[in-house]
Amino acid sequence: MEAAENYRRLREEIPEYVTIVVAAKTRTAEEVSAVVDAGATDVGENYVQEGMEVKGALGDSAGRARWHLIGPLQKNKVNKALATFDVIQTVGDYEIAEAIDKRVERAGRDVVPVYLEINIGSEATKYGLRPDYGLIEGLVRRISRNLTHLRIEGLMTMGPRSGDPEDLRPYFRRTREIFERLRDLDLPGVDMRVLSMGMTGSYRVAIEEGSNMVRIGTAIFGARA
Ligand SMILES: *Cc1c(COP(=O)(O)O)cnc(C)c1O
Repeated sequence: MEAAENYRRLREEIPEYVTIVVAAKTRTAEEVSAVVDAGATDVGENYVQEGMEVKGALGDSAGRARWHLIGPLQKNKVNKALATFDVIQTVGDYEIAEAIDKRVERAGRDVVPVYLEINIGSEATKYGLRPDYGLIEGLVRRISRNLTHLRIEGLMTMGPRSGDPEDLRPYFRRTREIFERLRDLDLPGVDMRVLSMGMTGSYRVAIEEGSNMVRIGTAIFGARA
């Protein structure tokens, strides 16, 4: 399978400390399964329903990967998300954080790792926190104080769309600065260790700017239909 081969080649190219999340949106369970069989450790899905279906279809081998929600989460999907995903990368406001926190125990879990999604380009069309450090620190402190079933483990960002990955460098750099400041607060329930940034077109620049988790779809599966 070409996707399996692409994954292996990427895994050799990308430094070991960088986690590769296989961005599986629109791909069939067969396609995802081939990449998990090739050794993929982490799979990302944008939609709760699609994630449930693909993970369900993988059966036992699904357990070999960690499952990440990498698309926005609606409140009415939180229970299903908690039943499917190990990590939620897309917390962008207190409301959704609280909605998750409330349902963690009912999902039979103790603590759920989450990342805050930063809309680093302040784009009107994108979900996530504006890159206003004060605002972000305020949210982190509020979650740390009140929501004991969440553990903030990182930041996730997409960055503006661009043909030239060099254009994204300043956005990645800025995200890393926010990441380091939050890490240095050393708050309870906050264990800042993952910087999730970089996709097919931008992962090299993202890694140069401090990313330790890239989310890659096209370079593994080919262009989406
Ligand atoms: C689709 C997607 C990716 C991967 O994009 P590619 O360019 O196909 O590698 C990464 N992150 C998120 C949030 C996505 O929706």
